[in-house]
Amino acid sequence: MRAYDIILKKREGEKLTTDEIEFMINGYTKEEIPEYQISAWVMAVFLNGMDEEEITDLTISMTRSGDQVDLSSIEGFKVDKHSSGGVGDTTSIVLVPLVSSAGLPVAKMAGRGLGHGGGTIDKLESIPNFDVNLSKKEFIGQVNKIKQAIISQTNDLAPADKKLYALRDVTATVDSIPLIASSIMSKKLAGGADGIVLDIKVGNGAFMKNLNEGRELARTMVNIGNNAGRKTIAVITDMNQPLGLAIGNSLEVQEAIETLKNKGPKDLTKLCLSLGASMLKVSGRFKKFDKAYRLLEEKLKSGEALEQFEKLVEAQKGNKKIINDKQILPQAQNKVEVRADKQGFIHEINALEIGLTTVDLGAGRKIKGEKIDPAAGIVLNKKIGDEVEKGELLAVLHYNQKYSDKNLKKRVKNAFLIKAEQKKKSQLIYEIID
Ligand code: URA
Ligand code: CA
Repeated sequence: MRAYDIILKKREGEKLTTDEIEFMINGYTKEEIPEYQISAWVMAVFLNGMDEEEITDLTISMTRSGDQVDLSSIEGFKVDKHSSGGVGDTTSIVLVPLVSSAGLPVAKMAGRGLGHGGGTIDKLESIPNFDVNLSKKEFIGQVNKIKQAIISQTNDLAPADKKLYALRDVTATVDSIPLIASSIMSKKLAGGADGIVLDIKVGNGAFMKNLNEGRELARTMVNIGNNAGRKTIAVITDMNQPLGLAIGNSLEVQEAIETLKNKGPKDLTKLCLSLGASMLKVSGRFKKFDKAYRLLEEKLKSGEALEQFEKLVEAQKGNKKIINDKQILPQAQNKVEVRADKQGFIHEINALEIGLTTVDLGAGRKIKGEKIDPAAGIVLNKKIGDEVEKGELLAVLHYNQKYSDKNLKKRVKNAFLIKAEQKKKSQLIYEIID
């Protein structure tokens, strides 16, 4: 087999065989096929697409490129959750303690921020001393003991995806359904969970810009999961504005704690309850979504979910005093307010622009491996549908470095579209596909 012929075949829009796809992924992982040939092949996949069989083959090859975690020594049905990527998506930090407080074991492997989107591991590292690098034995032991753990994805988990993702990032081939579906699902399959709940984001802050694209991505991923013998559900949710009010690492941990105290933003709370109810449904414990949802609402109200978070922080050596004293978390020295220059209603908030500005404030990375500022970020004061007076607060920028770029303030202001006519609140959950 030659890489050249496989590139040509995909360039001509033909369907690739299982062996051909495996040849490319294996060759790339072992560095036997050069990056320039993989780049050309990935662009051909981007332009001509893949059918379901090809996407499944691609996912399986990527899953097999590294370690496959065996979670069988954890009792019970293990459910994982994954988001396709958004801005201010604080859900995992709430969901892990919330769902495990209902008795379901959650062994979560999470990633770092990528582009304009944040990552759970970066957020958790803003908690002083929190250890995200448990050994496999410690990871499994902790889940057996307190039903939950969150660790950083190891380098051996789907290494083909690691390489491909970095390549896609610089070759304008990220937003492709076969490539996103195989990227996420290969990591989820290698992670070893029995059931998977996918949060597929659509909107101006997501890779999928509209509901039709989101639906196709969701169906593709649900099929891959089910064909691989994992019960999979996708929830298609709105990313036409950041989720909740906080964007940035330490700020999102504070928001997650508020949400676990049942005092968080309405949209974040509702999404956590919905994703959590889907996790309980996938596990087979509940037949009815509504019943699972109400149980989780109870866990928030009773304080059990918050207690479970405290156990998580303690088990992973973090300072649990953060729960009642947020000053222990990194705080920015400077705060700049962004105010409305006219009266009206918020019609749009450009989530992508807010995400990019947050990165420029220091909350994310512009180059691989860059150090981030855990305290930096943005806190919104208004969401779509809210009324605003002239001069009223729209958002606050939090930052530490010398703030010379006034442009950032302007960019946040311009991310809000204010019009005179009323606007209804945007829909949060579009569809559930199973
Ligand atoms: N998240 C991933 O892990 N991979 C993608 O391709 C897109 C989002
Ligand atoms: Ca948030």
